[in-house]
Amino acid sequence: MSSRTARCHCGQLQIACTGEPTKISLCHCLECQRRTGSVFSIAAFYERGNVTLTQGNPKGFQRQSASGFSVVFHFCGNCGSNLFWEPARLPHLIGVAAGAFAEPTFPAPQQSVWSKDKHAWLNLPPAMKTFDVNPPAGPVARDPG
Ligand SMILES: [Zn+2]
Ligand SMILES: [Zn+2]
Repeated sequence: MSSRTARCHCGQLQIACTGEPTKISLCHCLECQRRTGSVFSIAAFYERGNVTLTQGNPKGFQRQSASGFSVVFHFCGNCGSNLFWEPARLPHLIGVAAGAFAEPTFPAPQQSVWSKDKHAWLNLPPAMKTFDVNPPAGPVARDPG
């Protein structure tokens, strides 16, 4: 099975992700804006068993998500990049910062969530499913924020 490496800005923290993500979700929420320093984040959700820490010793930061579930974010203590996170409401999945793969051919997100907080200048592909907050509970993965 194919594997991708996601790494932090300085390279001290690396994870290997096997196979394809279960779900890719773009999030406009205000906490994702603060966390990334960008105006949205993109989470690639992988099955927990498909993610392996291959280098480094991440620091953790826990907070409540915009939906009220706790999420632990793991980041590099040297450069500060947030590489992956563990959403309590999706305990079988790990969210990986899609940009950390630095792979321009990485698959596009299937959905965008918390679009009520979307910056007005930003236009997404019309075919992308959009939700004002998070989509209703269901078997598919949702963004942690
Ligand atoms: Zn780093
Ligand atoms: Zn978010």
